[in-house]
Amino acid sequence: MKTAISVSNLFVSYDGSEALKNVSFTVDKGKLVGIIGPNGAGKSTLLKVLLNLIKKDSGRVELLGKSIKEMKTKIAYVPQRSSIDWDFPITVIDTVILGTYPNLGIFKRPKKEHKTWAHECLKKVGIAELHNRQIGELSGGQQQRVFLARALAQKPEMYFLDEPFVGVDVTSEEKIISILKELRDSGKTVIVVHHDLSKASDYFNELILLNKELIEHGNVERVFQPDVLSRAYSIQFPSIIGEGVSS
Ligand code: ADP
Ligand code: MG
Repeated sequence: MKTAISVSNLFVSYDGSEALKNVSFTVDKGKLVGIIGPNGAGKSTLLKVLLNLIKKDSGRVELLGKSIKEMKTKIAYVPQRSSIDWDFPITVIDTVILGTYPNLGIFKRPKKEHKTWAHECLKKVGIAELHNRQIGELSGGQQQRVFLARALAQKPEMYFLDEPFVGVDVTSEEKIISILKELRDSGKTVIVVHHDLSKASDYFNELILLNKELIEHGNVERVFQPDVLSRAYSIQFPSIIGEGVSS
């Protein structure tokens, strides 16, 4: 099986304060992986390093055997909804068309085919009828679907999503997870930061449990154990995990 992500001895800090310490793991191609851990564990930081949005202090990161720079157009990012400026005046369809830009190249204008493809992607996430709305007018679930459509429009090999289910209605959540599972089944690699533990075992094949250091990584059965989780979270887990347990 081909390795999609290889991280070794990764250290990241902000102004001298360590956010990630000596993190190493590999993820195979075609997996749907959850990154879990308490608030401030470095989950978003890890995604941003994988996307080359922030600098690492040291360590190695390879995506499909290549450097992040070489893979830039092959990776899509759906940022945390709270980090997006929803007052920015842009329509739904234009937001999705922006996703086609990595493949367009600089200075090239989108053509009809890009617009048609953007519409296909909106249809896929179930909100084609909202194409002319301003993104700020949408509900949380609709906004998240727009950004998933934008990622799909990019036709990437890998998807990185940060807390995609926060502030999202149940129908949107189900739609999004079913699309992510479909992407995985078609061989794409999907990495999702997810802080709500209640669904983690239904949604993911593998979990990366983080608290600055890598606490555990492996299939869900291995990581989703009370004794393992309590090494990352400072609360005790009941012996039956599931109902309503979150960070
Ligand atoms: P998580 O996503 O797991 O909640 P983050 O990766 O956002 O955690 O943050 C990890 C740590 O790094 C936290 O202590 C946070 O306060 C700090 N941090 C994150 N971003 C910045 C930044 N831009 N500048 C300074 N510190 C930051
Ligand atoms: Mg975060």
